[in-house]
Amino acid sequence: AKSAGKNRFSYFTREMDEEAHMRLRLIQELRHAIQLDQIHVHYQPVVELQSGGILKAEALARWTHPLFGNVEPSLFIPLAEESGVINDIGDYIFREAAATIKHWDALPGLPLEISINKSPIQFGTKDQDKWLDYLQQLELPPDRVTVEITEGVLLDVSENVSSKLFEYRDAGIQVAIDDFGTGYSSMAYLQKFDIDFLKIDQSFIKDLVTNHGNRAIAESIIAMAHKLGLRVIAEGVENGEQMALLRDAGCDYGQGYYFSRPLSANDFENMLVKRNGT
Ligand code: C2E
Ligand code: CA
Ligand code: CA
Ligand code: CA
Repeated sequence: AKSAGKNRFSYFTREMDEEAHMRLRLIQELRHAIQLDQIHVHYQPVVELQSGGILKAEALARWTHPLFGNVEPSLFIPLAEESGVINDIGDYIFREAAATIKHWDALPGLPLEISINKSPIQFGTKDQDKWLDYLQQLELPPDRVTVEITEGVLLDVSENVSSKLFEYRDAGIQVAIDDFGTGYSSMAYLQKFDIDFLKIDQSFIKDLVTNHGNRAIAESIIAMAHKLGLRVIAEGVENGEQMALLRDAGCDYGQGYYFSRPLSANDFENMLVKRNGT
């Protein structure tokens, strides 16, 4: 029994070694992923619940590795954050997504807005990003762009974060709080930074229909947000029952597989043309 325990232990350390090795390898390969054209953007529509119309698309990063295939964002985004590569990847996603939205202005029944995720790391240094300059170059009005941040960013009292958020505000960029309800942000912060959207975290939407607690939380978020003049997006809407319940509760927008999975730019464009005619 003793030696079995020992073997189990060495098995675990070997496994941990392999895991650490794999993480390092992925981080190294992430550094070149942009140049090697392995990073792409997928787009998921945010739909107005009353009208069924599309307000905007959320840009979601995709990494297709030649050996490992599609690597999950929940795996590579944390590695990119840890290694700082998120700054380059984030800039790339931003430019690609902003240019794509601009390009879609030529399609009928629009214009659409674009929502971009920005991780806390990307607020690390003052004025390190040139997003506003790029929008100007592109002639895309800043109010067509939403930056999605998590509650943790709001709670960060550092100068970098608040000056960047106010800079965005002054330029007209909209701000959404992602995964709302899972963190600890207070209403005071929502007011201070004049936040535009709350995105109710998918965990509350998942069993909305059967779980009264989660339904109460979702309804309270909607009521509070509306009193403060914010609009609400429900994330992870997967079926018509959830959609109807949220719509009847006054939720403004929904996003999730019920409406559409995240799509490549081409597929999203085809979907728009089909919906709106040519
Ligand atoms: P998120 O910002 O909360 O994005 C929503 C996630 O939910 C996406 O996962 C999306 O594909 C997934 N989703 C959408 N509808 C449904 C649904 O009906 N059911 C379920 N179960 N899931 C749904 P994805 O694309 O795997 O991204 C995971 C996370 O990775 C994102 O969560 C975000 O935090 C991060 N991420 C993705 N792209 C970027 C990026 O460009 N920059 C940064 N900083 N983070 C990113
Ligand atoms: Ca998001
Ligand atoms: Ca989210
Ligand atoms: Ca506002």
